Amino acid sequence: MSAPMTVADATSAATLLARCDELAAYSSLPDGLIERVYLSPEHAAVNAVAARWMTEAGLTTWQDAAGNLCGRLEGAEPGLPALLLGSHLDTVPSAGRYDGILGVLTAIAVVQRIRASGRTLPFALEVVAFADEEGTRFGRALLGSRALAGTWDDAWWELRDAEGTSLHDAFLAWGLDPARIGDAARRPEQLVGYLEAHIEQGPVLEDEDRALGVVSSIAGARRFMVSVIGAAGHSGTPYERRRDALAGAAEAIVAIERIARTAQLIATVGQLEVSPGAVNVIPGRVDFSLDLRGEYDSERDRIWQVIQDTLSELCERRGLRWESVQTHSAPAAACSARLREVVAAGIRSTGDERPLSLFSKAGHDAMAVAAIAEIGMLFVRCEGGVSHNPAEHVTEADVAATIDAVEQAVLALADSSDGAERAPR
Ligand SMILES: [Zn+2]
Repeated sequence: MSAPMTVADATSAATLLARCDELAAYSSLPDGLIERVYLSPEHAAVNAVAARWMTEAGLTTWQDAAGNLCGRLEGAEPGLPALLLGSHLDTVPSAGRYDGILGVLTAIAVVQRIRASGRTLPFALEVVAFADEEGTRFGRALLGSRALAGTWDDAWWELRDAEGTSLHDAFLAWGLDPARIGDAARRPEQLVGYLEAHIEQGPVLEDEDRALGVVSSIAGARRFMVSVIGAAGHSGTPYERRRDALAGAAEAIVAIERIARTAQLIATVGQLEVSPGAVNVIPGRVDFSLDLRGEYDSERDRIWQVIQDTLSELCERRGLRWESVQTHSAPAAACSARLREVVAAGIRSTGDERPLSLFSKAGHDAMAVAAIAEIGMLFVRCEGGVSHNPAEHVTEADVAATIDAVEQAVLALADSSDGAERAPR
């Protein structure tokens, strides 16, 4: 059992929230707005502050070759594989103060509590504060976690920020050596797994009246440009002779929404281009974007087939044709059964006896880490499901439950590891 919590307790929810406020002050924007991007002075400053908190928690700290801040607490003997606990400290423009930050500070609080309890674990604990999850500065997300996962792409060195500075030059200016990026990479045998607490960025937990939830998977998106092609013509053309690409696309978009809704899938049409785009000309061609994401790749891909069949049917009926180009495809990252179970055990310890399981519609560092370790995630209720916005809000009670649940999840994993390794008496 953890000690009774007071405001003075460095591992309390009140302290954690005060630290979120403290980090929110490190921003490149005025007027209390938060923006903290990769390889900026603010990035260096929050790493220094968080390193101090990690040191106070008993961790040995270092900054890796990608600017991620790391801290380690050895297990029963030095050099054991590590369970990584973490999230990110960078933000989007006009950010909230909890997205990512909450997970890092929860990790620090949990390690501090476990160390204070005197319990030794059959694995090391490491806290990782990823340097770039959002991709705000260079337009490419998950740079920090991709470096740790060893999936860095050298083509990224030429990415440029709004000022025209390349990622390569930003590394040098910040005191990092691009040639050493490989040093940030971990190997699978060094890791027990990766556990991340994060605000939900959606309203499901709030609607279900739950503080916490077990993440089943992080959805991977497939994106397409879909073109509906008819024939441009004078607006005087009778209906029977029209081949109106926009009317067809409109019917398709509504059908896509209906199909995705019944399948519990996320389908978003966010861009639409009408050609020739004149008030008195029947549209001859429409190009629209489609972003499809779901809990499982198989279901997402099945629904894409249903959408394609629907497009074929309605285009044939309207004398149109259609084609599509896939512009992006990422697999869903599934949380492992073992880490889902320990996260559920952690949530049960807070009094929620039947934890809710949900999938993440947004991307997270865990997606990248999944390349080298099993992953688990815990979602925390956020007010109105709002994130990436100054109005982002979590309650102190929910934060207290988060720290308790992650601590108990780590201990449950230790118990199961102990049991697996110990010979029967
Ligand atoms: Zn985040």
